[in-house]
Amino acid sequence: IWALNNPMRMAGWLINDVQRFIASAEKVEDLLNVKSKITNDAICYNVKNFKGVVEFDHVSFSYGDEPVLEDINFKVIPGQTVGIIGPTGAGKSTLVNLLSRFYDTTSGEVRVDGVNVKDWDIHHLREKIAMVMQDIFLYSDTIEGNIAYGNPEASIESVQFAAKVAEAHDFISELPGGYDTIVGERGVGLSGGQRQRIALARAILKDPTILILDDTTSAVDMETELRIQNTLKSILQEKTCFIIAHRISSVMEADLILVMNNGRIIERGKHQELLEKKGYYYHVFKNQFGNFDDQDQGKEVISIN
Ligand code: ADP
Repeated sequence: IWALNNPMRMAGWLINDVQRFIASAEKVEDLLNVKSKITNDAICYNVKNFKGVVEFDHVSFSYGDEPVLEDINFKVIPGQTVGIIGPTGAGKSTLVNLLSRFYDTTSGEVRVDGVNVKDWDIHHLREKIAMVMQDIFLYSDTIEGNIAYGNPEASIESVQFAAKVAEAHDFISELPGGYDTIVGERGVGLSGGQRQRIALARAILKDPTILILDDTTSAVDMETELRIQNTLKSILQEKTCFIIAHRISSVMEADLILVMNNGRIIERGKHQELLEKKGYYYHVFKNQFGNFDDQDQGKEVISIN
C-alpha cells in the first residue's frame, strides 16, 4: 500500500521541517550571539542500508553549565520501541534531540548502525528520522495538504492510509469538506488531540526508519490511543520507535522503558519488570491507574471559525 519508499520525495519535506527548526534555532542563536557547533563533516555512509540500530554509549550533555543528561546508556534494534517516561525537565526531549543531531553530546557517543551520528551525513540521517514534536504546526492548507506536507505527490490513498493508522480518518471524514477541509490559522479549528493525530499521520506518511513521538498522544483519549498503538504495531515491524510520554499507558507495551529523572535513567526494563521493582515507575502507575480520571481528554472540540 505504501509506495512511499521514494527517499528523494521524502527528503524534500523532511528538509523543509528541519529547515523550519533550524531557522528558529538560528534566530535563537542570533539572540544569544552564539554560533551553532553542529558541523557536517560526514564520511558518507550508504543510507540505502540504513537499519536504525540506535545506541547511546555513556552519553552526557549540557546546554550550559548544568548537566542535562548524565551517563545515558542503552541500545535498541529495529522493530523495537523504547518508551521514555519521567517528569518535565528530566531530559527526555533532549535525549531524542541528540539522535537527530540538533545538539551534539558533551561526552560519550550516540551511534546509529554502529556509526557515530557525527560521522553520518546530517541530511541523510535526518531523512530517515521522523519526529512528531510537542509543538504541532498546521499550515493554512487542506488536511490532505497538511498530512502530505513536503510530499505533494503522495496519493490520496496513502494519505488516507496514514490517517487511518493515526486514528484521524474518521474525524476527518466527518468534517464539512473531508480531506479538503482547510485547517490552520484561517480554517477549521481542531482540538489538540486532532492536531496531534494529523501530525502523527504526517510522520507515518514519511515512512521513516526511526520514528520519534514526543508527547504525541497526550491530548488523545486513552481508548483512541490504544487503537493507535495497535495499528502502529503493524507498520513499526522494521522500524525503531521512541515514545516519550507522561502516561504509563503510552509506554507500557514498549520493549524497553527508560524512566528518567534529573538527566539520568533511574529505572529501566519492561512494564512488568518495572512494576515488580516497586520504585518510581510503580508509584506513577498506581497514581495514574488509581485515580483514573481522564478529565476532558476525549472530548473533541470542532469549532468552525
Ligand atoms: P523533558 O523533555 O523531560 O521535559 P527537556 O529535555 O525538555 O526535558 O529539558 C531538560 C532540561 O534542559 C530542563 O531543565 C530544561 O529547562 C533544559 N533545556 C531544554 N531545552 C533547552 C535549551 N534549548 N536551552 C537550555 N536549556 C534547555
